Amino acid sequence: MALHLRSRLPKVGTTIFTVMSALAQEHQAINLSQGFPDFDGHPDLKRLVKEHIDAGHNQYAPMAGLMELREAVSEKIEGQHGHSYDPVSEICITAGATQAIFTAIMALVHPGEEVIIVEPAYDCYAPAIELARGTVVRVSFDMAKADLDTDALDHAISDRTRMVIINTPHNPTGHIISESSMKWLEQRLTGTEVIVLGDEVYEHIIFDGRIHESVARFPGLRERSLLVSSFGKTFHTTGWKIGYCAGPEPIMTEFKKVHQFNVFCVNRPIQHALAEFLKKKEVYLELNDFYQQKRDFFCKAIEGSRFKFVPSAGTYFQLLDYSDIDMRTDIEVAKQWTKEKGIASIPISVFYGDPPEQQYLRFCFAKNEETLEQAAQLLRQL
Ligand code: PMP
Ligand code: GLN
Repeated sequence: MALHLRSRLPKVGTTIFTVMSALAQEHQAINLSQGFPDFDGHPDLKRLVKEHIDAGHNQYAPMAGLMELREAVSEKIEGQHGHSYDPVSEICITAGATQAIFTAIMALVHPGEEVIIVEPAYDCYAPAIELARGTVVRVSFDMAKADLDTDALDHAISDRTRMVIINTPHNPTGHIISESSMKWLEQRLTGTEVIVLGDEVYEHIIFDGRIHESVARFPGLRERSLLVSSFGKTFHTTGWKIGYCAGPEPIMTEFKKVHQFNVFCVNRPIQHALAEFLKKKEVYLELNDFYQQKRDFFCKAIEGSRFKFVPSAGTYFQLLDYSDIDMRTDIEVAKQWTKEKGIASIPISVFYGDPPEQQYLRFCFAKNEETLEQAAQLLRQL
């Protein structure tokens, strides 16, 4: 018997990350597509996880996360941004940022309410909004200014807007949102019912002495915002899928109502390990320098190629403009170069509802220098 399945996401296929990583594997291409390091996390962190498994910390954790870890997260955020979230009521440990984002949207967006996303937009936002039966409203990042387009946002915000999702440092462009744009948003939202979701998973990967302008730094924003981050990016452990969400109590109360039925709680031994490991502040404070060296290595290694680019301000991604090399669409070029030239990247048109005419590919530089050098050699020949 053939079941008649009516898709809840009729326009959605398999994510570009899965598609490009599979293609890279099939053709044994160097995989600078899906964002993940090709090196391992800190040996002490791995040792701590093993110790906590052996110590028998293998049953359910408290629903919102181990208190030690929530306390450690609260202290970390206070050290970064000078604002203290209450570990009891204002922090929840999540199964990565993806689950935090999904849970936040499900908990806070009612059918018909509008959610503004900034394009190119990370791919998990729109499907979650659609599943909540909200309406996706798309505005463009100002690529020339490398910042939010405040005029476009101004026009998009209305009394139907329930949420604005911002992402800084920004995947896939590597741009960061400026202090003045954050202040503008703080002012613009005063007196409205709009919630801000700050996707800050690359908070510790920011270059050239710039400051990460978190939603937590602006009093008028943080009272209406959720701050989402991921330990996967910070500790080179993307496969562990663990992160956190922080925000004011009334919003977090609604968040946790959904969280408890979405996952209930997340991986316990890793929570114990992270609570201890977060005491080594230098590990995350040195991450900017660690990745800045990789960005510089990669950008230097592709000097003399025909790509045009501005070095990223944050994240572990570098956008390259290939318009002097090939005029085909980024999806065609990304696939062909993976199959025939041995180098995989991410076409950024997939992060738009209606992609503009532009020729950019995204390359992940969270790789060992040998990998980056081999990739650069191929890129210089294009
Ligand atoms: N947001 C952005 C901008 C990301 O790049 C990613 C993952 N790379 C996520 C959210 C999801 O993070 P996680 O793997 O912790 O779910
Ligand atoms: N966030 C990672 C990227 O941008 C991929 C995560 C995933 O594969 N879903 O490449």
